[in-house]
Amino acid sequence: MLYYSYMEEQWQAVKGHLERNLEGIVFKSFFRNLNFVNFEAGRLTLSAPNQFTIDRLQGNHASTLKTALTAANLNPEIIDYIIAGTSDEQKIERRRKKTTVNLGELDLTKSIGTQPTGAKAHNTNLNTKYTFNNFVVSDNNSLAFAACRGVADEPGTKYNPLYIHGGVGLGKTHLIQAVGNEILAQHPDYRILYISMETFYKDFIASIQKKLTGFTEKYRTNDVLIIDDIQFLEGKKESQIEFFHTFNELQQNNKQIILASDRPPTRIADLADRLVSRCEQGIILAVQPPSFETRCAILNAKAESSGLNLAPEIIEFIAKKCTSHIRELEGALNKAGLLQMSLGPRFSLAKLEAELQDSAASRPRTTPDNILKATANYFHLTLTELSSESREKHILIPRQIAMYLMKTELSLSYPQIARALKRKDHTTAISSIQKITKNLATDTTLRDQIASIQEVCVA
Ligand code: ADP
Ligand code: MG
Repeated sequence: MLYYSYMEEQWQAVKGHLERNLEGIVFKSFFRNLNFVNFEAGRLTLSAPNQFTIDRLQGNHASTLKTALTAANLNPEIIDYIIAGTSDEQKIERRRKKTTVNLGELDLTKSIGTQPTGAKAHNTNLNTKYTFNNFVVSDNNSLAFAACRGVADEPGTKYNPLYIHGGVGLGKTHLIQAVGNEILAQHPDYRILYISMETFYKDFIASIQKKLTGFTEKYRTNDVLIIDDIQFLEGKKESQIEFFHTFNELQQNNKQIILASDRPPTRIADLADRLVSRCEQGIILAVQPPSFETRCAILNAKAESSGLNLAPEIIEFIAKKCTSHIRELEGALNKAGLLQMSLGPRFSLAKLEAELQDSAASRPRTTPDNILKATANYFHLTLTELSSESREKHILIPRQIAMYLMKTELSLSYPQIARALKRKDHTTAISSIQKITKNLATDTTLRDQIASIQEVCVA
């Protein structure tokens, strides 16, 4: 319950922000009666008084709301609207009141909060903001982009499955949803479903536990099935079997399968060989972290699409400062936009610098334990192995990374870092951290790995 009262507060902050920044009439007409219902697995559900308001919010005010959400540190992947007082809202209310989420209550054929708000009969789960047009193509992602375009033009025939992998925030979700949106535009009658592997898993478990029907129908009747974050299958044998059957059935019928993951199939621990080889039958492509020039290009494109006019030095400053992933770039860009809006001509690079510093300082802190766990988990090591004496490379490098993160995330002293990893001599900590810092300049895989660990170890 605590979580929900926290979320309610966050939502009030969003509304406060909107009220301060919008004309009174606009706020009153569209946002005053917009209420928070639920936020789960990246999906924010809001309730509005009527369909007219929902249409307006989706049409004209989507970016305004996004900016206010980002300012309150809320970054939902999807926003769903429901009409206040309907049975959908009551269903979600009931679910919220339980301390543990009861999966059985989900009706799998019509999942809660995802009722199409437009005229579409079938809910694709696709977010229309992800398109090919607003994706910046560069050396780091041009192959993945080309394959996605290819699939969008000839679904089910060209590359099946299409498998995209790469670190956090590098545009995988954007790309695979863009394929879905493009196919939908060309074939409005196609049944397309975008889903995360976690949802697939939950649906599957619920279908067994509650003996619900609807699972097979939901997953095996699609023309295009897009599944995100398939690393979630790691270690889940039963779900892998179910996924394998789903996969087979779709592939045999020339239905397109699109998958994204933070790593290639061979690096998903325990992924059944037959699944790995199925993935290899199609095409597997990586997206790499963007270079400085690409980061500038992305910022310029995003600024333009949100109607922001920022000086080149502001764009370059953000591109220099935010190096790990694109979500970070977007966050900083939104902040710059807000500052410019609120400060007008008083807006300057120094102001932005100060603002970004403050928000870094107020970021929730992780703990040494979390860093150790996240690093061990990421590299499939035990905590004992991580702090062992072993100098084998597959243990040594993760250990150096953990030390590096303790320095950069927590500013621990070298002796503290040495102790956390059960080392007597703190000079190892110094040389380890120097080594990682040096390699980061050239090693994009390392940068990727560190960004992924950072993402999960923030407390
Ligand atoms: P991932 O799924 O790889 O973690 P996302 O697709 O969620 O990353 O991307 C994070 C954010 O960055 C999204 O808002 C996305 O639109 C944006 N983004 C990522 N790559 C690009 C790109 N090349 N061009 C434009 N926007 C991008
Ligand atoms: Mg993603």
